[in-house]
Amino acid sequence: MQRYSFFSLARNALSNHRGWQKAWRSPALKNHYDVLIIGAGGHGLATAYYLAKNHAITNVAVIEKGWLGGGNVARNTVTIRSNYMRDESIPFYVKSVRLYENLTRELNYNLMYSNRSMIDIVQTFPRLRDIKRRMLTMDIYGSSYEQISVDEIRRRIPSLTGGGPESRLPIIAGMVHSNAAVCRHDAVAWGYARSADDRGVEIHQNTEVKSLTRSGDGRISGVETNRGPISANKVAVVVSGHTTTLTQTVDLKLPLKSFNLSAFVSEPVEPIIDVVVNCPDMGVYLSQSDKGELVIGGAPDPGQSFRRDIKQSVYEDAVCAMLELFPSFKTLKMLRQWGGTLDIAHDATPIVSKTDIPGLYVSAGWWGGFKAIPAGGYTLAHLIANNEPHKLIEPFGLHRFNHLDFVLESGTTTAR
Ligand SMILES: Cc1cc2nc3c(=O)[nH]c(=O)nc-3n(C[C@H](O)[C@H](O)[C@H](O)COP(=O)(O)OP(=O)(O)OC[C@H]3O[C@@H](n4cnc5c(N)ncnc54)[C@H](O)[C@@H]3O)c2cc1C
Repeated sequence: MQRYSFFSLARNALSNHRGWQKAWRSPALKNHYDVLIIGAGGHGLATAYYLAKNHAITNVAVIEKGWLGGGNVARNTVTIRSNYMRDESIPFYVKSVRLYENLTRELNYNLMYSNRSMIDIVQTFPRLRDIKRRMLTMDIYGSSYEQISVDEIRRRIPSLTGGGPESRLPIIAGMVHSNAAVCRHDAVAWGYARSADDRGVEIHQNTEVKSLTRSGDGRISGVETNRGPISANKVAVVVSGHTTTLTQTVDLKLPLKSFNLSAFVSEPVEPIIDVVVNCPDMGVYLSQSDKGELVIGGAPDPGQSFRRDIKQSVYEDAVCAMLELFPSFKTLKMLRQWGGTLDIAHDATPIVSKTDIPGLYVSAGWWGGFKAIPAGGYTLAHLIANNEPHKLIEPFGLHRFNHLDFVLESGTTTAR
């Protein structure tokens, strides 16, 4: 793999950047692989990379119906954090943040990782109780969460002038999660793709899986695609909001529902916010990108759907919440808005699991799954290689739904 460095940039500048190798190949599609990964999003590509790197499994193809990184991996608001609620969840996210911290170096790809910290704005006492409980659990697993006063919030975020004592929901406290970060989302997909390709993994874009196939003994045998059948010893479904569409082709019902989550950005402005601001009681969060745009998100649309745009009422709710807390933003022009299809499990915890069909694995339920990409790929690769879960994902197995052994999480920015 051609290394990216200051010197290679300078050298290639002399030849008008015509000397760069392609970041990944476009090989011919074979009719058999040891492992097929469906979905070239963050989780699929990370899984392929760790399969090759940690388990020396390289006869692997990642099959993508659109273009690499065209799904939620490049549609999210790039917040990385580990402020979750349950003993089962926090160690997983702590691991993911740690992997992210070294990922630019490991992949030799500039992910523009920036440790910003996140401030939760607390406006109700039940939320404060919940969040303090979270602080104590997180402390056990080495993730930081620290309460700060209202004065300190206003010092750190000067543009937060709403939420005063006379307002509808006065701000009563803040919590700082200093491990939180942002990073360039599509670079995560490209970085993993390039390093996986370098280790022999094949990536096939414009290849849509129409159905999963089984052999006579019930095992998974491969997939039917728009380019014909492909057989495989093991298949992993890593398609985000479209998981159930594929698993129903082999009559596998999963406890997942698909929802639309959307976001929007403002025109670029001078630097005004250097942390991620999360307002869970109002249902809005925002940060400022390196280009100066405010990146703003709200709660998912509560109605199930596969839409990838933004519903006007959801947009209005998020804007109203933002203006209550940041009234000066009323003059900002909004530039772009978009959405993505997420699947959410009944307990709001991801599913990374074997299934009842031997050889078939699923990684799903990632409604805050950008932050989880490194640990999600790392642990799914372990599961595929060993057919046994890594201890970090033992609680995320499908078995939990057989025994009502839920991992009830609300560790997300906006409550559902
Ligand atoms: C608006 C929005 C904001 C978000 N903000 C955050 C955030 O701040 N922090 C955070 O941690 N998470 C966030 N998320 C969630 C995060 O983006 C997702 O959980 C995560 O990206 C999902 O994993 P993925 O990257 O593998 O999915 P994707 O990138 O969606 O990958 C799945 C791929 O599968 C492909 N596919 C689907 N069906 C088929 C098929 N039949 N055949 C072949 N390929 C198929 C798709 O085309 C897609 O490329 C946000 C999501 C959205 C929509």
